[in-house]
Amino acid sequence: MRKVLVLEDEASIRSFIVINLERAGYEVVEAESGEEALEKLQQHPDTRVALLDVMLPGIDGFEVCRRIRMSNAKIGIIMLSARSQEMDKVTGLMTGADDYVTKPFSTAELTARVDALLRRTTDEAPAQRSGEILQPPFRLDLTNRTLEKNGVRVKLTQLEFSIMKLFMENRDKALSREDILDTVWGRGYFGEPKIVDVNVHRLRNKIEDDAQEPRHILTVWGFGYKWNVD
Ligand code: CA
Repeated sequence: MRKVLVLEDEASIRSFIVINLERAGYEVVEAESGEEALEKLQQHPDTRVALLDVMLPGIDGFEVCRRIRMSNAKIGIIMLSARSQEMDKVTGLMTGADDYVTKPFSTAELTARVDALLRRTTDEAPAQRSGEILQPPFRLDLTNRTLEKNGVRVKLTQLEFSIMKLFMENRDKALSREDILDTVWGRGYFGEPKIVDVNVHRLRNKIEDDAQEPRHILTVWGFGYKWNVD
């Protein structure tokens, strides 16, 4: 079952989201506070995607996200934020989320985002799931979807893993943001290329010795990124 958690304190927005996700074939678990969301996730460990409103009366959506990620790297997380002008702050604080949607959003947009994330967080077909890519100090295990650097596991979300796979399969090639978006999030995705930057920023913090002076994920100005292994 495709189960989605919806955390939103405003009842009217919550029911709007719930109705539309149910119409799209999802089973929905609702929560109106961060605390309730964490409880519901424990009761429903098979939840595949969580939609987390940022502004909440108790603990905020970022804190909920952080707590979910402490124990669950697999679930897809989409932040719902109120105003577009807050996006810089939101993306800076997106410690473990895979995507964000700015209110107001259309139902088509939201459903497309959830669909895309669900595809990314679902195991790929068995044929694509074997083997490894070895580029010292990195080792990407395609079977277990894990990354090691110098033999030490680097904890990645499913989306981060997909980006790493794309990079390592295209060593020394400049990839545009749109290439990355199309391959990792899927064609026809409604999102903005900026989500690529958010995820790359986070990946750098995880895999670079010094994220301020990246040696592996290089910026190609005005274009995108390039994977480099010396
Ligand atoms: Ca709210």
